Amino acid sequence: MEIVNAHVHMIELENMARKLGDLSLPAGISVLRNLEATLPMLLPQTLLAQMDEAGISKSILYAVEAPIVYASNEYVHALCCKFPDRLIGFASVNPKDRNAPAVLESAVRDLDMKGLKLHPPLQDFFPDDHAVFGVYEKAAELNIPVVFHVGTTPFGSLCRLSQASPLLIDEVAVCFPQLRIMLTHLGTLWHNEAFMVVEKNPNVFIDTAAYVPEIKQILTPDIITRIGADKIIFGTDYPMPYADRLHRMKDFVDCIGDLGLPEDVLQGIFHKNIERLLYGDASSARSITAREMLEKACQFVGTAALAS
Ligand SMILES: [Zn+2]
Repeated sequence: MEIVNAHVHMIELENMARKLGDLSLPAGISVLRNLEATLPMLLPQTLLAQMDEAGISKSILYAVEAPIVYASNEYVHALCCKFPDRLIGFASVNPKDRNAPAVLESAVRDLDMKGLKLHPPLQDFFPDDHAVFGVYEKAAELNIPVVFHVGTTPFGSLCRLSQASPLLIDEVAVCFPQLRIMLTHLGTLWHNEAFMVVEKNPNVFIDTAAYVPEIKQILTPDIITRIGADKIIFGTDYPMPYADRLHRMKDFVDCIGDLGLPEDVLQGIFHKNIERLLYGDASSARSITAREMLEKACQFVGTAALAS
């Protein structure tokens, strides 16, 4: 079965050091715990070897415009050019920057980026703040999806959880019904709130990049049916370790494969739903007017009256 990993990072270490400047990293933040073992995973050949081991044909590589975990649009573009059959790039912009819509447009037109990744807590903004809505408008105009980090982070005091609530994305989904949106990490411990936003809004998807033991507990057949099997997208957050285990894409593929899901649901999660996120789906865009609904209801009442 074809498998696409919709959530992958490669960090641009050299430029990140420059971006960090004098920012001091608080002791004990969990992202540094497995740093030495994780660093070799930032080599493209390790990424491709992990994809091969897991049977993953393509990965979506995220740029991140934040001092920590920095990867520029140009860096992601260069990697995608090197491995065009294996990597798809998503851009990142600083949504508080006045030029953000223009930067996004040029990343899509000139660097062939297929989506936008935003990390509200690392980029220090509230996703429901109308001051950043210009970026969503531009994404909708360019017909590209927007991915939001939601839920907890391993960045300790460098981030505020108040900016990572999945419920903040409801405002974006309501204001931009044509914009395709993906939440991440099954909501990372905020999963009920994340599922609420996915269930409520036809334009919101969610990726599976949670801790492997969590996926088994959270992604039950009932919850999949409830929020929509066509809304769940396979992703792993490579190369992030989970708990104290080093990242291995195959663990995630095996975990999802062992959930006992029907073949068509697995195909959706592993590759079909990401196509809908990337390119949209005309059939799901069809809406019903209040008049059509009322006419249907009147027809039913008339038929029911005749039958009684
Ligand atoms: Zn991530």
